[in-house]
Amino acid sequence: MADLLRPAWMLKPAMIPRKPLSVQLVSTSPAQSPLWAQALRDAVRRPQELLHLLALDKLTLPLNLDPDFPLRVPRAYVARMRKGDIHDPLLRQVLPLAAENLRVPGFERDPLDELNSQRQPGLLHKYPGRVLLVTTGACAIHCRYCFRRHYPYDTARPADFADKLELLRADSSLHEVIFSGGDPLTLSDERLGDWINALATIPHLRRIRLHSRVPVVLPTRITVACLKVLTSTRLQTLLVIHANHANEIDAEVQHALRTLSAAGILLYNQSVLLRGVNDSVTALADLSEVLISAQVAPYYLHLLDRVAGAAHFEVPETEATQLLQQLRAQVSGYLVPQLVREVVGLPYKQPICV
Ligand SMILES: *Cc1c(COP(=O)(O)O)cnc(C)c1O
Ligand code: SF4
Repeated sequence: MADLLRPAWMLKPAMIPRKPLSVQLVSTSPAQSPLWAQALRDAVRRPQELLHLLALDKLTLPLNLDPDFPLRVPRAYVARMRKGDIHDPLLRQVLPLAAENLRVPGFERDPLDELNSQRQPGLLHKYPGRVLLVTTGACAIHCRYCFRRHYPYDTARPADFADKLELLRADSSLHEVIFSGGDPLTLSDERLGDWINALATIPHLRRIRLHSRVPVVLPTRITVACLKVLTSTRLQTLLVIHANHANEIDAEVQHALRTLSAAGILLYNQSVLLRGVNDSVTALADLSEVLISAQVAPYYLHLLDRVAGAAHFEVPETEATQLLQQLRAQVSGYLVPQLVREVVGLPYKQPICV
């Protein structure tokens, strides 16, 4: 029982479950709050504390103290930041700068018009064959460039499980359910298991896909119990992690990723091209290298979605194209992600040809 709550990478390889599994879901009582849940609660939430931990508290920085989307960053992620470096690419992803308050034309609250793609609150159907479930509004980390930073989770959260299932059961054109959020891996194993088990009873569904930043920012979440929930199903499981910089993937994250892969889960990575974070060929090449060494295939590199508050992260398309050309000229083909942008109304992410 205790082992189930431990990060999977701490266990001997023989104890790591592999597909197919017939193990019953073991539930965790609330009294046994797993380590990862404690770490989630213990995340850094005050900018002053973050700057202090990084020996940057002597600097006077113009910060955004916006209470709607406040600072949140797990301590394990802070530990990967370079001390004394205000330009650290991980710090830049989480530090709320005053620049977020600038009003920039073209940057909107719902840049992808998501609220008009909902079949039900919290169920987005934009592309054929797959549907996206907003399983929770919670995230382990608050990324300043997030295109859902203004999303009305309170009203759009899938409150009614049964309604969602009914809709999915009635639409046989659907083959894949995407767990999104928020971050689906902030859900308890029980809640994840409830979703997965219910979806597995719908005959036309073949796959589930989780989009999550948790394996990167809180790798202790990948426990043996979590692996069991993700793999004890007839549905194929894919996991798209969201990493933007090689420094995000330390040894512990690599272990967690290799464990997920060894359990039979296909792993991909999606990044956003961000000014000051990964806007160089070296940063992109290093990221792809570290991903592949952890069994993760580069998938998409997104141009920034133009969400209000994130304009200072934007890299123009011409520069993005040049970066990708240079990357392609340096590395193996499978290390080059597809450069894409999201265009409202298109039935796919629009490739930007390089
Ligand atoms: C991005 C997205 C998907 C997944 O698109 P893929 O190209 O299959 O990765 C599905 N649904 C919605 C609403 C999306 O925004
Ligand atoms: S983890 Fe994903 S959904 Fe959550 S704030 Fe970051 S980018 Fe947004």
